[in-house]
Amino acid sequence: MSDLILYRDPLHQNILLPDATGQGLAVQANHHVIVHRGQALLLDPGGHKVFNQIFSDVSSLNGAPEVTHIFLSHQDPDIVAATNGWLMITDANAYVSELWTRFVPHFGVDALLEERLIAIPDGGCWLDLAGSELLVLPAHFLHSCGNFQLYDPTAKILYTGDLGASIGTAAREVTDFDAHLPYITAFHRRYMASGAILKRWVAMVRALDIDIIAPQHGALLRGKTLVDTFLDWCENLECGLDLMQNTYQIPPKA
Ligand code: FE
Repeated sequence: MSDLILYRDPLHQNILLPDATGQGLAVQANHHVIVHRGQALLLDPGGHKVFNQIFSDVSSLNGAPEVTHIFLSHQDPDIVAATNGWLMITDANAYVSELWTRFVPHFGVDALLEERLIAIPDGGCWLDLAGSELLVLPAHFLHSCGNFQLYDPTAKILYTGDLGASIGTAAREVTDFDAHLPYITAFHRRYMASGAILKRWVAMVRALDIDIIAPQHGALLRGKTLVDTFLDWCENLECGLDLMQNTYQIPPKA
């Protein structure tokens, strides 16, 4: 499997790296890179199993861009477990929710590198990648309580982390949303916190000009029609607390 170039102009590229996850129990994960003027932002680089492959793939990108930013959408191991390695082999800063800066170091972030683990405030922020402004959007409880997404206004790509994730499909892009539903429905009903939060998220992102929604697992959604169809689906989804009113009971003995 090769790189998928999602956007390219002379100064700016958005690349989905080849799938490095392999077989086994570890959930498939996508690894995206944004390159601008020779600097690179790596999104959700993952854990130790994929570290060598991702490093090699990023190093072999056209022009061998310098990784200056690492964006961590939330605290899960498939996102942050190899943060120490990335901080050791690059001079990048890694950005994660202020809720998680005291927890990520338990994966073994060296004390000398801790100052490069930067807290994202709850309201989000902008990141400057060699002059290209990237928007860090709050998406708390979708699914983590300290959760961010990244919007690239140049490429019009919204990187949504676990929101939009599909499980069990090898497709890299969605072609038919109805046929795609079996791969996303159960995941969203259980991993996303509530329909009320999804509605607020949809209202926020409808203000953005989005060509591609790129989740951290499974297939991406390309084109306004698929993006709008996905947002409509999110807006009306019952999930999380909506479905768990009777869950909080002591289980019977086996
Ligand atoms: Fe997660």
